[in-house]
Amino acid sequence: MNQPEQADAGDVPQGATCPVPDCPLAADIVLRSCDKKLIGAHKLNLARYSEGFPAPGDVIAPDKAVDLTENAKTLRVLMTFMHSQRFPSLLNMHEESFQELLELADAAEKYLVHSAMAVCNLRLASSDDIFVMSNGLKILEYAIKHNYPDVADRAAPWTLSESWDDVARHIGCGQEMMAWARYREKHISVLETMVSPIGMEIEDSGLGCMKRWFSFQSTVFQSLPATIRGRLDSLKGGRENPLRAATKKHMSMLNGCSTSMCQNRVWEWLERCDDDLNNIAAFHTFL
Ligand SMILES: [Zn+2]
Ligand SMILES: [Zn+2]
Repeated sequence: MNQPEQADAGDVPQGATCPVPDCPLAADIVLRSCDKKLIGAHKLNLARYSEGFPAPGDVIAPDKAVDLTENAKTLRVLMTFMHSQRFPSLLNMHEESFQELLELADAAEKYLVHSAMAVCNLRLASSDDIFVMSNGLKILEYAIKHNYPDVADRAAPWTLSESWDDVARHIGCGQEMMAWARYREKHISVLETMVSPIGMEIEDSGLGCMKRWFSFQSTVFQSLPATIRGRLDSLKGGRENPLRAATKKHMSMLNGCSTSMCQNRVWEWLERCDDDLNNIAAFHTFL
């Protein structure tokens, strides 16, 4: 803040430095976060890299700060996206940083800071990522709110076992909720098919096979989660068909089948469930 070119330095409230280290620009506007921290910024940069901040022509008393509803941490990171320089990496954020990322993403959307919007969007949508695995519902809310159907598609599979109340709290009770309910209903149908007994004719392979088959099938059913919510949870994130692990584990119960008809019946069963799962349309198509 002590650079000689900083002509307006005397006008801005004290302590209002630009959060970018070694920034050579004069801070000619001061933002005040909701936690009452002062942040120096540059009107031209705000106008060039965003929309929604006071424009250079706007008359602002030079010693007055502009009050914003975001916290200082969010605003400081957001300001770094409004300089012609390398943007901060959001890759190494820990799980605890999720809320910060979400607040940054929301602020970027609000002020239309396109660079920050794109980076946050990519980070929130990474599948197999700690964020989407444990915050599916919040990411779905973000995706719906800011109209990112592809992000919604990645988050929705992680919300299958959430309660109706929790989902409503995040996405409301309108058409989005209806879409979510229909999307989940498709998964419930797959689960129903998954646990529908598959019969066999005794003429197919004899009494021994029949006994083995029904005992195998009921063992597999029992090894699946007992409740609907538990079963939905096992489908969460579009992970592998839970029937696959269960049948693999107990496959040896079919040893003794001389014709391999029973094993083939298992493959057909698995394939049918895989097909059913793969045929569920992406979440956004229900909207
Ligand atoms: Zn600066
Ligand atoms: Zn058999």
